[in-house]
Amino acid sequence: MSSVRTQKFSFSNRSIALEKEDLISVERAADVEYRLARQAVIDYWKNGKIERESLCDAQPMLKRNAIHCGVPIEEGCPICEPGKVYYVTYVFGPRLPAHGRCISTKGELQRLNDRKTQLSVYVIEVCPDCGWNHLVRSAFLGGNKF
Ligand SMILES: [Zn+2]
Repeated sequence: MSSVRTQKFSFSNRSIALEKEDLISVERAADVEYRLARQAVIDYWKNGKIERESLCDAQPMLKRNAIHCGVPIEEGCPICEPGKVYYVTYVFGPRLPAHGRCISTKGELQRLNDRKTQLSVYVIEVCPDCGWNHLVRSAFLGGNKF
């Protein structure tokens, strides 16, 4: 009787860009450790024990990658409040640039995961406005010996 169509999940409607859920949906013990470390530095800063410059030291390239390859998250920046925070994914390993490959699509991540050699993945939280950056997660990709 209703003429309203329900919105169904469809792959064709999804962007090929990485989404937050692709790498960071599953909570693991290590994530808790990173979160505690993150909170500790924020608390140090709030208590005046750390200079803002030492927390907000993202290189220009990291800030650019955050905007162009990163996934915006809903939380605001813990340091400059209104600043938008992005999760940036870097992969390191053989036949990749020494400064890591910044990942922007799921396909890219899947292709790297299909490699026989093991690669390291780091997800970094970055605020391009103030330069805040902190490690969110580290993991391994690839290493398939089949
Ligand atoms: Zn910020």
